[in-house]
Amino acid sequence: MASALINDSERFEQIESCNSLWIFDTEEKRFLRIPRTGPRPTSISMFPDKTWEPYKTLSIDPVGGEFIVRLNDSGSRMLRSQRHGDPCPLCSEEPKSQMTTEFREIKGEG
Ligand SMILES: [Zn+2]
Repeated sequence: MASALINDSERFEQIESCNSLWIFDTEEKRFLRIPRTGPRPTSISMFPDKTWEPYKTLSIDPVGGEFIVRLNDSGSRMLRSQRHGDPCPLCSEEPKSQMTTEFREIKGEG
């Protein structure tokens, strides 16, 4: 139990937003967020219990990429985020990825 692997897709749902990697433990109904660019965790034993937050439901829009995490039954507390895409319309507006944008213009996107 304590050594459950995060790449067990039956149990864990992993979603990348622009800044974070979200890991949902669908069995225990809890989730956590870690920096997207950091090393990928392999086992939930890397995370102490206190780093997880409980949630009620996870809804993912497969087309738009938006996802909503309800933290309580009434839905009065929820988190809303957007999947990071490739190319990502959200990231490409950030100054740090200016080079990527220029490269796309040179290639003549479309
Ligand atoms: Zn992004």
